[in-house]
Order: sequence, then C-alpha cells, then structure tokens
Amino acid sequence: GFLATTASSHFLLPLISHPHDQPPSSSSIPDIKIGVEGLIGNTPLVKIKSLSAATGCTILAKAELQNPGGSAKDRVALAIVERAEQEGLIRPHSGDVVYEGTSGSTGISLAMICRAKGYTAHICLPSDTSTEKIDLLERLGATVEKVPPAGIVDKRQYVNMARTRAAERNALPGGGRGLFADQFENEANWRAHYEHTGPEIYSQTGGGKLDVFITGAGTGGTISGVSRFLKPRVPGLTVVLADPPGSGLFNKVKYGVMFDVKEREGTRRRHQVDTLVEGIGINRVTRNFEIGRPLVDDAVRVTDEEALAMARYLVEHDGLFVGSSTAVNCVAAARYAKKIGPGHTIVTVICDSGSRHLSKFWKAAGEVSRDHELELDEILNMSRS
Ligand code: PMP
Repeated sequence: GFLATTASSHFLLPLISHPHDQPPSSSSIPDIKIGVEGLIGNTPLVKIKSLSAATGCTILAKAELQNPGGSAKDRVALAIVERAEQEGLIRPHSGDVVYEGTSGSTGISLAMICRAKGYTAHICLPSDTSTEKIDLLERLGATVEKVPPAGIVDKRQYVNMARTRAAERNALPGGGRGLFADQFENEANWRAHYEHTGPEIYSQTGGGKLDVFITGAGTGGTISGVSRFLKPRVPGLTVVLADPPGSGLFNKVKYGVMFDVKEREGTRRRHQVDTLVEGIGINRVTRNFEIGRPLVDDAVRVTDEEALAMARYLVEHDGLFVGSSTAVNCVAAARYAKKIGPGHTIVTVICDSGSRHLSKFWKAAGEVSRDHELELDEILNMSRS
C-alpha cells in the first residue's frame, strides 16, 4: 500500500511539475522514422556465424531483406521516383503513373513507394509469373498487366511493353503523365547504392576494413554503386561477381566477351537455361552494370545445386531463411574465403527472404534435414568451377 503509492507518485513527479510541456514533434526525435520511406536503408551488417567458423574468415552480409519492401530494390524505387520528381517529370497526387517491366522485387518496391507518395504503379510482367507475386502487387495497389512471353527484341516483351505504356500515357492530351522507371538503364539505380549502400558498408566495417565485396548482378546497380564508392577508399579491395548458370556476365568479367567463349556447361544462353535462381544473371551489358564493370576483379560461377544446398545449410546452422540470389552470394563468398584463406573479411548481400521464393526455389530445395546436417565442404565440392 504505502510503498507502492510512494513509488508511483515519485515516478509521476516530473510529469506533474511540467503540465504545459508539449510532446516533442516526431521529426525532432531521431529514433522516429517518417513514413515507409524512412524505413528504407541503414540495414544491418550481419556476421554469418556458420560460414565464418567453417572458413576462418569473417563473412558479413548486408541485410537488405530488412527494408520495408523486403529487398534492396526499395532504395532503387525511391531513388528513381525522387529523381523524376526533382526533374519535374512527375508530381504526387496528380494522376501520374510509374511503369516498369519486372517480375521481381522492383515491382513490389515501386508499388509500395507509389502508394506512399501518391502515384499509381503499373507493372508489366510475363504471364507465367507466380500468382503469389501477382497477388502481392495487386494487394499493394499496383495495376498488373500480364504479357505473353516474348523475346527481348519483341515490342510485346514485358519491359518493352512498360516503356510503350508510359509513352502512350504521355501522348494523351491533358491527364496524368507516365514515367518509365527503367531500372536496367536508369542511373538513379547505381547512384542509390553509391550514395547509401556503399557508405553504410564502409562505416559498418569500421572505415572500410574489408578485403572482398562479392555479389550477383541483375541490373548491376548494387555491384556498380557499391564498388564505385568502396574501391577508391579501400586499398586492395577485391570485387567479385557471383553468377548463376546461363548468365553472360561471368564471361564478360573473366574474358571481356559475353558469348564468344565456350562455357563449361555448354554454349546455351540465359533464356534457354532453366535455372532456379531469380533476380540475378543476364545476357546483355546494362548501363548499370557497365558503369562498375571495370572495377569488378573476378567472377565465380555457382550452380543451382550448390545454391539449393547453401540455402538449406543457412537454415540448418544459422536459422537464416534466404532467397535464391542470396544463396548464390553465400556459395561464392564461402568459396572465395577458402581460396584466399583464413583471416580475411568478406562482405556479401542478403538480397531477400526465402518467403519470396517458396513456390519455386524452396520447393526444389525441399525440407531441411533434421538429422544429417550438411557440411560446407560438401557444398563447395558439389561441382568444381
Ligand atoms: N537479388 C534479387 C532477388 C533481385 O531481385 C535482384 C535485382 N534484380 C538482385 C539480387 C540483383 O541486384 P541488382 O539489380 O542491383 O544487380
């Protein structure tokens, strides 16, 4: 009775003595983020304990899955929209529409950013895209246009379709405008990683204390932006591309050409290779890849089998549930750690969560074994590359 009353009145005293204090406005409290945009970036750098212990290196991963839209594409979508606003190409709440051709994370990030800022997202995607992804885009308020599969030079191909739709909208008299986001060629993409992802990695490693940065490339925005920031500031840094089957980028980095060198797995090109890995690996040099290509020192090939085994390994040992491109990154990081030996620091990227990849990649990966845990060397010896 008595003690409790005393304690609670002491606790209340500071409040009672300043009855006219206003709560500080949210923008003056540094820990409060303003809107969904405020949740983008400043992702943690996590040490992957199992891979570090097994290799003797410090293997760190930029946890891009912690962005509100679940991937690094939030950074890119925000940068593309903000740059278009600065250039006066679009204006919030005026009926403007942002168009993109993508079946991946970029559509989800654009849909989210468009809602937050007062635009409509219109996403063109191949008609064989999983219903999971289409549902998510529609729940986020995007207009989804399913386009029959077609070659990259075909006007009806989904990326070309998005470009056409934006032009059509701009040709309409009056009304809102259309913006083609164009993540492959739009330089706001690599700049977002140059301005944010790169500097974050630099400070999170105690001023650039890393030996290797290793990641895959879809548009190339991540590898180019991060490399362009880190290379001049981290003497001796090695930048490595992690590449899935069928992608031409491996040969481009190793030999300077995409197709002329006979690949070990044959001479098949990307669209003929049935890989389980989504989001990385391409067969043309985009502007966002080209801008950083001279800074990429080496490339590592990763097979689907290795990626599947690594994804299971990370759940078994770390409780880390990742998507296919992250699994590729981690195979490449572990293989590079073995190559350069213990004592080095390697930074890679957790691109997104496994929950985005349940119906394809994780279906193939199957259940995680409860009795036989995979060893890292088993994975790295699955195929020699
Ligand atoms: N992982 C996933 C899941 C992706 O969707 C992408 C982008 N397409 C990447 C990795 C590669 O990133 P970037 O486009 O910056 O090369």
